[in-house]
Amino acid sequence: MRLIVTGIGDAFSAFHFGSSGLVEGSGSLVAIDCPGRVLAMYRAASERSGVPIDVQRIDDILLTHLHGDHSNGLETFGFARRYLTERPSRPRLHALPEVLDRIWEKLAPAMDGATRENGGISTLEDYFEPCPMSPGTEFQIAGMTVSCRRSLHSVPTAGLLIRDESVCLGWSGDSEFERDHVDWLSQADCIVHECGDHFKHTRWDELDTLPEQIKSKIRLIHLPDGAEVPEGPMRPLVEGEVVHIGS
Ligand SMILES: [Zn+2]
Repeated sequence: MRLIVTGIGDAFSAFHFGSSGLVEGSGSLVAIDCPGRVLAMYRAASERSGVPIDVQRIDDILLTHLHGDHSNGLETFGFARRYLTERPSRPRLHALPEVLDRIWEKLAPAMDGATRENGGISTLEDYFEPCPMSPGTEFQIAGMTVSCRRSLHSVPTAGLLIRDESVCLGWSGDSEFERDHVDWLSQADCIVHECGDHFKHTRWDELDTLPEQIKSKIRLIHLPDGAEVPEGPMRPLVEGEVVHIGS
């Protein structure tokens, strides 16, 4: 399993794309979150990583929550899948039920207009196939098994575990520090954990209290611009980096 890191920034970054990645499954890419300027983000990550990235081939989006630095690219993604191809298709949008319940409130003012096909009002289902994620219930995408857990954040947010037959990737989602969440994530071979200094986020010194065995698996994302991370096992991810999980 490979993770292509597409964005590492936090909500206020002036230098980076929003925290996000692509997981390479069996023949296809699965998106984790969808921040703004998503097409520019994929172009930049493709150039840096050497991995071809085409929005038309990303059929699954795992959306952790609705903060803009994680979801502002959905409008562009949905329109690109409808208008930038001769064969329009809907990606599956996997999110907590309470996220799916409100996502159209965010997208509708820009996306509920008429189309050539319907001549009337568009709905979320015209662009995406909504797929509710239930914490504790595994589901299959792109040959991988995914499960989720609610994190502690200011709005409903999910952390993720993504497994193939041999390795597992953990993704904290935005969260304040919660030992139970880390313990759940520690099933993974590699844990991508957010690290920030704002309310409802996890500070580096909190992660530093974890056992060395867990810290050795953690890579950091969502750091504020210019944040200095002390020497140690928990290294920040880099945009365009390809992380080989389990090796
Ligand atoms: Zn957030």
